[in-house]
Amino acid sequence: MLPGVTHWQHPRFFAYFPANASGPAILGDLLSAGLGVQGMLWVTSPACTELETVVVDWLAELLGLPDRFRSESAGGGVIADSTSSANLLALLAALQRASDGEVAREGVRRQYAVYVSSQTHSSMEKAARIAGVGSAALRQVDVDPVTLAMDPADLRRRLIEDSAAGLQPVLVCATVGTTATCAIDPIADIGALCREFGAWLHVDAAYAGAAAVCPELRWINDGVADYADSYCTDPHKWLLTNFDCTAFWVADRVALTGALSVLPEYLRNQASESGAVVDYRDWQVPLGRRFRGLKLWAVIRWYGAEGLRAHIRHHVALAQEFAGWVREDEFFEVVAAHPLSLVVFRPRWTGLDAPAADEATAAALERLNAGGEVYLTHCTVGGRIALRLAVGAVSTQREHVQQAWAAIRAAYAVPARS
Ligand code: PLP
Repeated sequence: MLPGVTHWQHPRFFAYFPANASGPAILGDLLSAGLGVQGMLWVTSPACTELETVVVDWLAELLGLPDRFRSESAGGGVIADSTSSANLLALLAALQRASDGEVAREGVRRQYAVYVSSQTHSSMEKAARIAGVGSAALRQVDVDPVTLAMDPADLRRRLIEDSAAGLQPVLVCATVGTTATCAIDPIADIGALCREFGAWLHVDAAYAGAAAVCPELRWINDGVADYADSYCTDPHKWLLTNFDCTAFWVADRVALTGALSVLPEYLRNQASESGAVVDYRDWQVPLGRRFRGLKLWAVIRWYGAEGLRAHIRHHVALAQEFAGWVREDEFFEVVAAHPLSLVVFRPRWTGLDAPAADEATAAALERLNAGGEVYLTHCTVGGRIALRLAVGAVSTQREHVQQAWAAIRAAYAVPARS
């Protein structure tokens, strides 16, 4: 097996975004596997539901998310299996609200529009297909050429155009930390437009959201408290919790459960009928669900707020130092802002035209990864290939980033400095 295993927990794994594993989360998962609970209804294992409610409330507090997302409000949180699922849930809830239940009852009968940018994760398009509005409902809003963040002026233009054409703007997906470069969409400006045009604002903070455990990084969520109808982030990426664990919050749970609640006779029970309990089967696509709250509970209890902050700050500091090294090197350039732990850069290749430079960049990246010492992935910025170095494995230390930098320079045949 081992030659075929990619070591995501290796300290020199810098590809994609991290997929953290930790001792406490592993023990939590082990307990969940052994208990083998199906937490579809409160009554099928009350502790499964109640612990989940407690930990998503704790996490909302740790991240400084608004009270509207807490279980004592009209909203609340749930643990999903992935941000892809959370994005779908957000769209289903938005359709429920926009159609006043018509979509759930009769299917998609009107033309709806869903707004993303070229940097939005592809799962939003998948969600549009699954929800039945189709890829054609997607509007790709322009991004600022420098920050790669969604351009609110272009969003406004499209909202006006679509509304005038009789389409219903149903959801805008804003991203805090895009997959390619960690761009941060201007949530407050986007949110104000959502309110004006009656669209649901969903915020996808899959990777970057974890950073908000640090008060000094909470600016990434500016505007969320005032405008977001839903928000998700993945503790399974950068918050020490083994896959799968996506926290998804809504400000109005009725929109979500209205879209998803179907009650067959065999699931009827007094607790559900009393209205006093939460049945998380109505907050997700499948019926069955694991006891995922245990691993997040174990992580929060073991590390505590300060431990989680230290984890994030350590990686952010390493990435900032790495970006400094790249900046000082005349052969490479940093090509995107790097507020957190992702650095996007590329060789300058002076003397090569763009296609030849891209080919050389890709070939050297392949050589670098084939060496097996480090693993990096690529993206495109402004139509040109760039390298992504995402710091985030639990065991990554400064020496590993230094080793990666040396390996990168060697793969790109940068002459050693005297
Ligand atoms: N959204 C963003 C911004 C992402 O970066 C990613 C993955 O990297 C996803 C969604 C998909 O996440 P998941 O694997 O949890 O579905």
